[in-house]
Amino acid sequence: MSGAALELFNTRTREKEPFTPLVPGAASVYTCGPTVYSPQHIGNMRSTVFADLVCRALRLLGHEVTHVMNITDVGHLTDDADDGDDKMEKAARESGRRAEDIAAEFTAQWLADRRRLNCIDPDVLCKATDHIAEQIAMIEQLEKAGATYRAADGIYFDVSSFPRYAELARLDLAQQQAGARVAERDDKRNAQDFALWKFAEEGVSRQQEWDSPWGRGFPGWHIECSAMSTRYLGERFDIHTGGVEHLPVHHTNEVAQSEVALGISPWVQVWMHHDWLVWGDEKISKSKGNILVLQDLVDQGLRPLSFRYFLLQAHYRKQQNWGEDAIQAADTGYRRLLGQTLPLADAEGDADPVRIGPARERFLAAVRDDLNAPRALAVATEVARDGALTAADKRALVAEFDRWLGLDLLTAEADAIPTESDPRIDGLVEARQQARASKDFATSDRIRDELAAEGIVIEDTPDGPIWRRS
Ligand SMILES: [Zn+2]
Repeated sequence: MSGAALELFNTRTREKEPFTPLVPGAASVYTCGPTVYSPQHIGNMRSTVFADLVCRALRLLGHEVTHVMNITDVGHLTDDADDGDDKMEKAARESGRRAEDIAAEFTAQWLADRRRLNCIDPDVLCKATDHIAEQIAMIEQLEKAGATYRAADGIYFDVSSFPRYAELARLDLAQQQAGARVAERDDKRNAQDFALWKFAEEGVSRQQEWDSPWGRGFPGWHIECSAMSTRYLGERFDIHTGGVEHLPVHHTNEVAQSEVALGISPWVQVWMHHDWLVWGDEKISKSKGNILVLQDLVDQGLRPLSFRYFLLQAHYRKQQNWGEDAIQAADTGYRRLLGQTLPLADAEGDADPVRIGPARERFLAAVRDDLNAPRALAVATEVARDGALTAADKRALVAEFDRWLGLDLLTAEADAIPTESDPRIDGLVEARQQARASKDFATSDRIRDELAAEGIVIEDTPDGPIWRRS
C-alpha cells in the first residue's frame, strides 16, 4: 500500500517517526515473551495483544513481517539485581515437578490464550534453553571486547565499557550508583553491572545447568534476547517491543550487550513500549497478587474477544484501568458492534470504492498514527451505523478493518450475536442521541426514562451510546 507512512513512537528517540524498514517491504520484529513458571495474567496479555497490533499494522500497510518471540525458561531471577532464585527452579522445587514440564504447561496455556485473543502466532517462538550455545558465543564475544569480568557468583557485564548505557532509558547512573547498597556486593564494579553467566553453586542442585568456558552454570536472563534475536533476525532489526517496566534494566542491558558484542549502533531501529494495565492504583502483576487470567473472565461469561475489544479502547502508550464496569461496558460495546457487523457477512453485491474511500482512509490514518486503536475502533463503529453506505460497502470496510482489529467482526460464532440487537431500541437510542446533540434535553430525558421503564440502561461511551438490559 502506498501513500502516507506509518508513524511509530520510538522510545529510543522519544519521537514519533515515519517507519522505514531496513529491508524495504520486509519488517523484522522481536518481542520479549513470557517467563513460563506460572500462568500469564491479563496484564501480560496486554503485552501480547500490543505486539500483535504492531505486526498486524505492518501487514495491513503492505509489509512482510518476521515476528520473533522468546520463551524464558531459565535464568530469570526473582530479584532484578541478579540475586535470588531462578523463577523456573523455584517453581520446580516447590511443586516437585520438572522445570521443563512446568515450562511446557505454561507455554501451552499462554499460546492457547493468545489464540483465543486472535493474536497471530509468531513466525519464530524460541526457548532460552534451546539456545544455550548462542548465548555462550555472545558472552565470549563480550569477553573478547573486554566488557566482562568474573565476580563471586558469575561472569558480569561491565557497564562502564559501554558509554551509551544510560541513553535508551535516560538513566541517571550517578544517582543509581549512590543509591546502591554498596556493602551488599563489593565484587561488582558498578551498580548496574549484570550477570551474563551464573555459576552453579556448590552443594545446590539445579535441574537446569550447562557446561561453559567458565564452568557449569546457566545464562543470565538478559543475554537470551540478544542472542536469539541475532540468530533469527540478523545483527540489526527494525522493531523491538515490550512493556515499559523492561526499559530501565532488561532492555537497557539488551542494548549494551548487543551493541558491544556486535560492534553496531543502533542495534534496534525502533523501540516500542506499551504501558501497564492497572487495577486501582496498582499495576497488575504476579508480585502484587492481584492477578486474573483470561479463563477467569471466560468463567464470568465474557468472551475472550471482549477483552481484546477492551484493550483496543486504550492507546498502548497510556495506562489502562482494569475494572468490572470497564470490562462489562467493553463486552456490551463489542456485542453491540457484532450485532451490526455479523449480518453484513451475507451482504450481496460489490462495494463502491468511491463511497467507501473516506471511511477507509480515516481508519488507515488512525492505524498509521502510532497505532491509534481507540480512533480506529470509533471509525469501525461509525461505519457499522452509517446510513449512507450499502451493506456491501460496509462488509468490504469491516473486512479490511478486522485485519487489524482482530475482532472476528464478520465471522464470530452465532452465539456471540447480542440479544440486545433490536432495531426499535436502537432507533430510540439514536433519537435520544440526536435530541442531546440539539440540546433538546426534555426529549432525551423522556426517551431515557421510557427505556428505563423497560429495563434498558443506556451508557454513554467515547464511541457513542450503548445499551443493555439491566
Ligand atoms: Zn527481552
